[in-house]
Amino acid sequence: MSAQPVWVLEKDQCVSCGVCADLCPEQAIAFSRTMAYPEQRPERCTGCGTCDKECPVEAIRILAVPDSMSVVQFAAAPVVGCLV
Ligand code: SF4
Ligand code: SF4
Repeated sequence: MSAQPVWVLEKDQCVSCGVCADLCPEQAIAFSRTMAYPEQRPERCTGCGTCDKECPVEAIRILAVPDSMSVVQFAAAPVVGCLV
């Protein structure tokens, strides 16, 4: 069974430092000083885990979701990626 990486951001913890965007080797995270939070480009993410490991406040989690499961996103919630 293969798995898809799912990027979860806890907005309440994010301090908008931009480290995740700076360190992502795939340029899969967009961030500028005018943005409140980073935005992920899921089509570019390989699930390497660098952003999860390097975020100074542990605001990012990379989850491995089996292809047999679907993913929905709740933009207004503190956690933007959720599983069903
Ligand atoms: S590294 Fe963490 S705190 Fe910094 S912008 Fe990314 S998610 Fe937010
Ligand atoms: S898991 Fe790797 S490729 Fe995906 S957004 Fe994080 S640093 Fe970038």
